[in-house]
Amino acid sequence: MAHNCSHTSTIRPVRPTTLGCEECLKTGQVWLHLRLCRECGHVGCCDQSPGRHATGHFHATRHPIIEGYDPPKGWGWCYVDEMVVDLPDQTPQRGPIPRYY
Ligand SMILES: [Zn+2]
Ligand SMILES: [Zn+2]
Ligand SMILES: [Zn+2]
Repeated sequence: MAHNCSHTSTIRPVRPTTLGCEECLKTGQVWLHLRLCRECGHVGCCDQSPGRHATGHFHATRHPIIEGYDPPKGWGWCYVDEMVVDLPDQTPQRGPIPRYY
């Protein structure tokens, strides 16, 4: 079944709001990989991380598209369609990403 993401118009050039997962940095939790929200710049951790904050951000805000961000990888993912999407650009890292593992 042919299926396309209808949310690519929400993709914006963003500046990451934090160097690592915003919620994990507050609580001192560890994360595995980072995901960057391409609508608002929120940085959250992936589903293999204990906090799963990128998915939590999607459920809280309905911002559909994230970018792999650990380090920037350039791929996009739509949570609504659960499919890989092409991003028009890749967000540069703001600085060294803190790590706790
Ligand atoms: Zn979509
Ligand atoms: Zn997190
Ligand atoms: Zn967002």
